[in-house]
Amino acid sequence: MKLLLHACCAPCLAAPYKYLSKEHEIVVFWYNPNIQPYREYLRRLQAFRKYTSKKGIKTIEDLSYPLEDWLYKAAMLSRKSNVLRCKFCYAERLHRVATHAKRHGFNAFSTTLLLAPYQKHELVKEIGEKIGKNVGIEFLYIDMRKWFDESEKMAREAGIYRQGYCGCVFSEADRYWRDNP
Ligand code: SF4
Repeated sequence: MKLLLHACCAPCLAAPYKYLSKEHEIVVFWYNPNIQPYREYLRRLQAFRKYTSKKGIKTIEDLSYPLEDWLYKAAMLSRKSNVLRCKFCYAERLHRVATHAKRHGFNAFSTTLLLAPYQKHELVKEIGEKIGKNVGIEFLYIDMRKWFDESEKMAREAGIYRQGYCGCVFSEADRYWRDNP
């Protein structure tokens, strides 16, 4: 199957790519306007480029970074709940992946957001399936959490940057400020 695999970052790509590429013809898609601040975005993008070029992985990069729009929507939702904010963030990224996959002749799309145990796994699945249905392309659901430890190890061994928080400034505050007020 020709699969367009969204990568949220290089460390989360390592093991999923290793296993999924045994069965599928994969192109990896970068679209992560949720990563803030911008220097952190660049750092993760560089790690992604370093890892994929070292492994000879085919990639497509969408470098759109609509900071004002993204922050405005995320902040409004964040006031209500973190779940609503993450729902918007997942949907925004997965919709971009699905439409690209549909337009360019892929059979399915998926995402490495299904790897990390700290992501809202069921929500990613639900949104991926819903978007797949609306756009008219299969969302390949796999519970990638079984590969999480291995992916971390592979990233460590490859010497690539491993971030300390999910991506947005809200998640950074959760990680570094609210834990240490
Ligand atoms: S915590 Fe992560 S998934 Fe949730 S909105 Fe922030 S970057 Fe997106």
